[in-house]
Amino acid sequence: MGQSVGVIGLGAMGMGIAQNLLRGEFAVLAYDLSQAAMARAGDSGIAIAASPVEVMHAADTVVLSLPLARHVEETIEAGFAAGVFDNRQGMVIIDTSTSETAVSRRLAARLAEAGHGFLDAPVSGGPQGAANGALSMMIGGDAEWVAKAQPVLDSMAAKVIHVGDSGAGNIAKLVNNMLVACHMLTTAEALRLSEAAGLPAKDALRVINSATGRSALSEVHFPNWVLTRSFDSGFSAGLMRKDVRLALELASDAGCTMPVSELVAELWSEARSGLEDTDDFMLMGDPAAHAKER
Ligand code: NAD
Repeated sequence: MGQSVGVIGLGAMGMGIAQNLLRGEFAVLAYDLSQAAMARAGDSGIAIAASPVEVMHAADTVVLSLPLARHVEETIEAGFAAGVFDNRQGMVIIDTSTSETAVSRRLAARLAEAGHGFLDAPVSGGPQGAANGALSMMIGGDAEWVAKAQPVLDSMAAKVIHVGDSGAGNIAKLVNNMLVACHMLTTAEALRLSEAAGLPAKDALRVINSATGRSALSEVHFPNWVLTRSFDSGFSAGLMRKDVRLALELASDAGCTMPVSELVAELWSEARSGLEDTDDFMLMGDPAAHAKER
């Protein structure tokens, strides 16, 4: 086994990331709050820790895949409180969670003072990309830490884009996901129009995907998870709502008006869409879900 890598958070993304790192000859030590997730990871050969602090004590590179910035901050603070970052140098934390710019910058500055690196490294590509090491990763942070983490980054992602300083990865991810939230609704609406006017959605998609209206949503998501009616992309409506909220907060902080995105955010709200946070976000492409809203 090679270098030891810690993974904290074994959900739809973190589980695939951990399993892929294990296949890439890293020694993986992982932790999740959920016992069921830990049992599944253990069954696939991943070593399990009793706490996030144990993971951070044991590994020089630690990957986080957690729902919210708050969970990321609490995890790192627990590490500080337990003395994880004392008396050693050169750890790199790779935060793949879709997080908040201010939190990433704060943690990067604190860890830098203690001689460690923190990269905001959110990802695109879903659970399939995570499991196959085929994610697109957008990184904010110092080049020296990116270089140090390169073997682990290359194992997780097919595309590693070092976008800029701390926080830049988060900005890129939120801008990207605001577009995803918009494309989801506009693609659903366009396909509804096509069906209402007499052209089946699958035929319209065939054309869109050879023409200028295409996007990842039309090329991948609608064919795989809406037309098949499986609605199981592995990305929840709750996480999509979080991304939309964070993108609008970023816009507000930057003094940027976003009238279309504000309307899209309203349409994504539970009250308007009828979707629970735990529902798969692809249900927003379901004509029945839209019918509820009208
Ligand atoms: P998920 O809800 O499936 O998994 C999150 C996991 O974190 C759960 O297993 C939960 O038990 C665990 N957890 C929560 N708090 C914890 C804590 N304090 N310590 C340890 N474990 C904790 O979420 P996901 O879909 O895997 O997403 C993870 C992150 O990646 C999110 O920030 C999300 O926005 C982002 N993301 C998700 C996707 C996707 O397609 N699912 C794609 C790109 C980015």
